[in-house]
Amino acid sequence: MANISFKTISLSNSTTTSAARLGELAFSTIPKIIETPAAMLYVRTGVVPDVTYDFIPDNVTRLLEIPLGSLVESMNNLENTESYANFARLSNPIYCPFHDTLVPLRAGGNGNLFSSVWTKSGRKELNIDRFKKLIQLVKPTMYETMFDGDTPFDQTTDKRFTKDRERSRKFLENSLEEQKNSTNIIIPLVGGYDKRHRELYLNEILRLIPKYEKNIFGVSFEGIHSYGPLTENLNIDTLKPLIEETRKKLNDYKNLLFTMPLLWRPDNVIRAVDLGFDLFSGAYVPYISDRFIILSFRYNDKMSSNITGPDYNINSKEYMNGKQSLLSNCECYCCKNYTQAYVYHLIQTKELLGRTLITIHNLYHYHAFFQAIRESIKANTWNEYRTMILEQYPIQEQK
Ligand SMILES: [Zn+2]
Repeated sequence: MANISFKTISLSNSTTTSAARLGELAFSTIPKIIETPAAMLYVRTGVVPDVTYDFIPDNVTRLLEIPLGSLVESMNNLENTESYANFARLSNPIYCPFHDTLVPLRAGGNGNLFSSVWTKSGRKELNIDRFKKLIQLVKPTMYETMFDGDTPFDQTTDKRFTKDRERSRKFLENSLEEQKNSTNIIIPLVGGYDKRHRELYLNEILRLIPKYEKNIFGVSFEGIHSYGPLTENLNIDTLKPLIEETRKKLNDYKNLLFTMPLLWRPDNVIRAVDLGFDLFSGAYVPYISDRFIILSFRYNDKMSSNITGPDYNINSKEYMNGKQSLLSNCECYCCKNYTQAYVYHLIQTKELLGRTLITIHNLYHYHAFFQAIRESIKANTWNEYRTMILEQYPIQEQK
């Protein structure tokens, strides 16, 4: 596996209570450093949904997010190749989260010796040996270990939480012990919304970290939701106490990367950067592009204030004769070459090119947003920046 390092390089102005921070991911296999906070590029079965690699905008962060579940079916094909990257001809670093952010989990898929991943074609069971074998075949740059995490909000008993912790820890230890598998691990932090169980689990992790410090690369907040479309509207503020508590306990490990799987709506990205998150799933882009949603929020103050709101649906008759681009002054390939009317027409005639053009615009816009986030933290203007983004989104209902 490739060597990889992460270090946080500065913190935003300490006059705020924000934990926003900059980080640098460095890899032994590529010369380029990836700066955080950053979104990954979501890949499924070797491709970015709806767009070929040639058409991915230049500003997109080239860190591939490949859910492990999407690879289970390729296991046999991988046996005869050197690695998944070779097999799928991918030259960028790869992160394999255990679950697919786009696919909802269903309850009851886990046992003492196995955990399930959910794919579009249903449930795939993985026991620890199969999981380790899959990691050996895929050889991702970093990966999240197998976990339980089946702890739906308000429906989880104490006994279930205890099982969740026991199993997740066993799976983690098993991966850590296997030396060749144990580099660049992201630890799933479980315990649902239960403060006590999260704390108990974190204490166990804290006991493991000194022994495996070289192998543990970061933490991922798990067991909080059941993945899939509902996570677009998760109220991040409700997570604040448990995330801050975790951050406090991990204070001695400043260079542990923080991540969480979610369909990251831009205003939630802002709230999470404030809580110190570094790495974000990129699944929001295929999720909205699939629904013909066009990102149109202002991600820097040079952009004219929009009249369409933070996003809009291009599949609406009002754009039938739209002579403008998807977003005026956008520098992406789609906006420089095509009109709203053309994209609308492609959708109506069910041409795949429609989704391709939408994806190109949304990838460009989303990753330009993350770049602007990093620049604002560097320039100490994070407070103003966060306000500018949050003002464009309706206030969240408390759930
Ligand atoms: Zn555009």
